[in-house]
Amino acid sequence: MNIAMKCFKHSGVDAVGTCKYCQKGVCHQCVIEEANGIACSITCAGELNKLEQVSKFAQKRVETSKSKLTIIAPIFNLFLGGVFLYRAIQHPDPSNFLLLLAVFRRY
Ligand SMILES: [Zn+2]
Ligand SMILES: [Zn+2]
Repeated sequence: MNIAMKCFKHSGVDAVGTCKYCQKGVCHQCVIEEANGIACSITCAGELNKLEQVSKFAQKRVETSKSKLTIIAPIFNLFLGGVFLYRAIQHPDPSNFLLLLAVFRRY
């Protein structure tokens, strides 16, 4: 099998790549090179850019939710530590001090 892919517009011209959006073969005349891939038409290039923006946006959202978690976790630990510290002061028995140690050992 040695059938080279042809351009979707020019059936006699070998394709130099495939449109990243619709997977059609594109020749050197039709190819639109975008920063994020090859497109066969302005429409596809536009769709690709939209997709890229959506994925960037989704990535950003993931990153911000991650950073929120890293802020919340220490606060939660401090709160927990405070609760145990309070309990240890109110009821000074060994098991409470052990719980306190367990919380602060994570730092
Ligand atoms: Zn296309
Ligand atoms: Zn072509």
